[in-house]
Amino acid sequence: MTGSPDSAAKERREELDLRLGVVRSRIADACVSAGRRPDEVTLVVVTKYFPASDVRLLAGLGVTDVAENRHQEAVAKQAECADLGLVWHYVGGLQSNKAHQVARWADVVQSVDRERLLPGLARGSGERGAGEREAGERRLPALLQVSLDPPERAQGRSGADPAAVPDLARAVLAESALELRGVMAVAPRGEDPGAAFARLAEVAAGVRAVAPRATWISAGMSNDLEQAIAHGATHVRVGSAVLGNRPPHG
Ligand SMILES: *Cc1c(COP(=O)(O)O)cnc(C)c1O
Repeated sequence: MTGSPDSAAKERREELDLRLGVVRSRIADACVSAGRRPDEVTLVVVTKYFPASDVRLLAGLGVTDVAENRHQEAVAKQAECADLGLVWHYVGGLQSNKAHQVARWADVVQSVDRERLLPGLARGSGERGAGEREAGERRLPALLQVSLDPPERAQGRSGADPAAVPDLARAVLAESALELRGVMAVAPRGEDPGAAFARLAEVAAGVRAVAPRATWISAGMSNDLEQAIAHGATHVRVGSAVLGNRPPHG
């Protein structure tokens, strides 16, 4: 016998509550170890492949920020969760001919890794702004995704080469519809994440030299959030540690 839908939802809520508690204390402990205040780090829960019902439960448990990596899935989920007041981050790959669609719904785009994306993002941000009260004044917060892979492995990976980041930062600054907030990266496999996040911290400092208000560092996932916080992460993107193993997807 399986339980009623109500008891299934209650069980899921308890499971998420428990896992969220573990992640929040990992973040708090990492902040203590790094001599940082816990309120310097925002938990962004990566809800990709999980249903809107989970997003709703997470909002009820105090989660303020969620991230998605597929446009269609995100649009559908956001529509179901429009009443929750969440901040929606986009962390997936961007194509220059689709970037404007993402910019219409995302509150933050974390995966800006080349100049070719900027006109589309700016257009999408403007289209959305036109329907809002602050018409024409909406600026879409953007993070530059940096590749931390060694150069010989960087081919085909997402993320800008660190050497190209200052020019990309200037290009984003030149787009009035975009607001440069900082950098984002995923630690490469097979390397100590701490070493990779130390390099990201240097890239972030280079961006702040060009754009002093671009203070966000989005780094750290379920398995390496401690190392990211030790190296200055302001946003950690955590999926499986909160939601469990991702369901199979096509
Ligand atoms: C899926 C994903 C995450 C979360 O990964 P977990 O290991 O499940 O915490 C973080 N960042 C990006 C860009 C992702 O695509």
